[in-house]
Amino acid sequence: MAPEILVSEVGPRDGLQSIKSILPTPAKKAWIAAEAAAGVREIEVGSFVPAKVLPQLADTAEIVAFAKTIPGLTVAVLVPNLRGAEAAIAAGADKLTLPLSVSETHSLANLRRTHAQVIEEARAIAALIAEQPEDRRPHFEGSLSTVFGCTLEGAIPLPQILGLAEQLMAAGCDEVGLSDTTGYADPRAVKDMVRAVRGAVGDEALTGIHLHNTRGLGLANVLAALEMGLDTVDSSLGGIGGCPFAPGASGNIVTEDLVFMLQAMGLKTGIDLAKLLEVRKIVAEALPDEPLYGFTPDAGLPLGFVPESHAPSMESAA
Ligand code: ZN
Repeated sequence: MAPEILVSEVGPRDGLQSIKSILPTPAKKAWIAAEAAAGVREIEVGSFVPAKVLPQLADTAEIVAFAKTIPGLTVAVLVPNLRGAEAAIAAGADKLTLPLSVSETHSLANLRRTHAQVIEEARAIAALIAEQPEDRRPHFEGSLSTVFGCTLEGAIPLPQILGLAEQLMAAGCDEVGLSDTTGYADPRAVKDMVRAVRGAVGDEALTGIHLHNTRGLGLANVLAALEMGLDTVDSSLGGIGGCPFAPGASGNIVTEDLVFMLQAMGLKTGIDLAKLLEVRKIVAEALPDEPLYGFTPDAGLPLGFVPESHAPSMESAA
């Protein structure tokens, strides 16, 4: 099991894009700054999609520019295509994630693109990145979404998934990620998928996973991923966004609960859990009509819980 885990906060992107309310730009900045101050080292701050598609994320360029002023923070964004990547690079993002739905039906319905077209976008984005000065090249991930099953097609044949992972790497991605967009994963499926995809693209090309808690298996799936050696886990503060198909369920895994589990297991996260729990207030105040999820924030920390100790050098390290 990996001794140090990177918790990648995706609430400002995945969470906010799933709700109707628009979080005002100053509140977004306060959220990101406070979470970085609590020791979160990577935050997906937005998505470069047209503002008319996702008005909640229309301020992404401004948010990236702001987040870039926070020392040591990896500023990640989602990009649906080359045009989004151009905007992301111009804004100075450190990491770009291009989603590729392994279900072609889902890909056509959501991105209006075939697999071949998405792979072509990946190739163009990789070429654009290669043109940048060496110190300004963002990390580039191709995310295999609906990889544990699709609401339109059900299970996707494994050879198709592995072929797409290989094509993303051949197109110039630095790594691929697994994304349980639909909340279909279970711990055994996670282990099988990690093993199969790593078998196709190599261990170094798969380090992270994006899980949803739609059916309550989010943290169990995290544990399965950790046992397979993955060390990067996406989560969302307060599980914001919820799940439209499962009322009462958080959308992404709740960051607070994830960090509690990792620290209770003695794994290093670099995060100050008490400070992280405080960040919730910023979001709750700015989005009074949105439910926040999570058990640890309500229950509090167990008596005698020993929080992770923090060397100051760790929080400021890049
Ligand atoms: Zn998601």
